[in-house]
Amino acid sequence: MSAPLYSWGRFPRSPQRGHSCVWLDDLPEHLDRVIGDHRSSLPYGNGRSYGDSCLAASDQVLHMRSLDRLIEADWATGVIKVEAGITLAEVLAVAIPQGWFLPVTPGTQFATVGGAIANDVHGKNHHVRGTFGRHVLSFGLLRHGQPELTCAPDSNAPLFSASIGGLGLTGIIHWAQIQLIPIRASQIDTSTVRFANLAEFFALSAELDDHHEYSVAWIDCLAKGADTGRGVFIVGDHAQYGSLEVGQRKKLSVPLTPPVSLINRLSLSAFNNLYWRAHPSQRTRGRSAYEPFFYPLDRILHWNRIYGRRGFQQYQCVVPQASAAPAMAELLRAIADAGQGSFLAVLKRCGDLRSPGLLSFPMSGTSLALDFPQSEQLENVVFPRLDDIVRAAGGRLYPAKDAHMSGADFRQAYPAWERLEALRDPSLMSRFWSRVIL
Ligand SMILES: Cc1cc2nc3c(=O)[nH]c(=O)nc-3n(C[C@H](O)[C@H](O)[C@H](O)COP(=O)(O)OP(=O)(O)OC[C@H]3O[C@@H](n4cnc5c(N)ncnc54)[C@H](O)[C@@H]3O)c2cc1C
Repeated sequence: MSAPLYSWGRFPRSPQRGHSCVWLDDLPEHLDRVIGDHRSSLPYGNGRSYGDSCLAASDQVLHMRSLDRLIEADWATGVIKVEAGITLAEVLAVAIPQGWFLPVTPGTQFATVGGAIANDVHGKNHHVRGTFGRHVLSFGLLRHGQPELTCAPDSNAPLFSASIGGLGLTGIIHWAQIQLIPIRASQIDTSTVRFANLAEFFALSAELDDHHEYSVAWIDCLAKGADTGRGVFIVGDHAQYGSLEVGQRKKLSVPLTPPVSLINRLSLSAFNNLYWRAHPSQRTRGRSAYEPFFYPLDRILHWNRIYGRRGFQQYQCVVPQASAAPAMAELLRAIADAGQGSFLAVLKRCGDLRSPGLLSFPMSGTSLALDFPQSEQLENVVFPRLDDIVRAAGGRLYPAKDAHMSGADFRQAYPAWERLEALRDPSLMSRFWSRVIL
C-alpha cells in the first residue's frame, strides 16, 4: 500500500489513502469504484494546500498526480492542453524552451494544474493578471455517474465558474487548456530595496506596482514599535534578453521530522533581523534565475518537516484597500506581541481584476501570509485575535491555507458558497467543506 498523504501543514494530521489512476480513459470507472467502495472522496493534486481543503471527509482521495501528460501544445499561440495532475514545474520544463511562461504562478512550482484551478491560485502579478482561473480557456470535468463535460466561459458556464476556486467539490478536473504568456528569456530583472515600516511599504507599492509585472514584500513579523512592518520590497519583470533555460537548481532536503518544532522565538527573531539587514537600503537592480525569484522555498524539499510532528498552520488574509493600512498594523502588532510567526511573512497588494471563479480568494486590497507552529495558544489566543481584526476590516481568509476558520466567518466572507454547494458533486466532500458548511 502506498504511503499516506497529508496536507502541506500536516495539520490536521489526517492521513489520506490515495487512489491513483494512470490513464484518462480509465478515470470514470476508477471514480465509480472509489465512490462505490467508500461512498465519498475528493480529488487531491500534490498536497501543497496547507490546511484541510485537500483532505477528503472520508480520508480516501483520488490522487491525480499520475495524470501528468502534455496533451497538445500550439507554440505559435502559447495555448497548451494538459492532464490536470501535471505540476507547474513540469509545464515550465516544456514551455520555457519554446519561449512561454505560466501567466500566474504561486510560490511553489510543485502544485498541479488541477490544484491551481481548484484554488484559483494567485501570484506576485495579481495586480496585473489576476488569478490563474482568468487564463484557463476550458477544462474537462468528471462528475460521478454523469457523462464527461467540457467547461468553458460559453459551455457549461455555471460549472466553469464554480470549479475555478471550487475546492475540488464540483467534479474531477481531468484536463485543462491554458493560455501561456510569451517570454524572451527565463531570467527575471529585479529591483530590491528595504523599507523601514508599513507606511513605506504602502508608498513603495503605490509607486512601483503599476510599472512592474511582479511585486512582493517580505516582512519581519517580529519587529516592534517604530520598526513594525519593516521589510524588503522586490519587483521584477521578465528579462528582454538572456537565455531560455529550465531551472535545474540542486535541491536540499530535510531528511526527517523532528519530534518538536525547530522554529522558536530566538531563531525567528535572529533570522528576520539578519535577513532585513542583509538587504540594500538603496534600490538595487539585479538579475535572477526564475526559480529563486518565484520559488525560494522549493529549494529545500520537505521543508514543512522543520515544524515537527504537530505540524503548522499558515494564516493568509486579504483586507480591502480602504482598511488595509490600519488593519495590517494591528495584525502585525498582535503577531509580534504573541512572539510567534514565520521567517518570512509575505505582504502583497492584490489588484482589482475579477476572477471568473465563484469563490476566488483575492480581492482588491492587501494580503498578508505567514506560518505558525501548531499550538494550543495559536488556536485559542492568536488566531481568534487575528480573525477579529480581519473580520472588522471586511477581509477574509484563504481556504487553501486554512485549518481553523469558523463556518460563520467563511459564509460571511464568501456569500457565493450556496451557489457552489448547489453545484457540488454529492459524492465529493472535503474536511474543510464539512467543517465550514455542514
Ligand atoms: C511553498 C508554498 C507557496 C505557496 N504560494 C502560494 C501563492 O503564492 N499563491 C497561492 O494562491 N497559493 C500558494 N500556495 C498554495 C498552493 O499553490 C495551492 O494550495 C495549490 O492549490 C496546491 O495545488 P496542489 O496540486 O498541491 O493541490 P492540493 O493541495 O492537493 O489540492 C488543492 C485543492 O484542489 C483540489 N484539486 C486538486 N486536483 C484537482 C483536480 N484535478 N480536479 C479538481 N480539483 C482538484 C483539491 O480537492 C483541493 O481542494 C503555496 C503553497 C506552498 C506549499
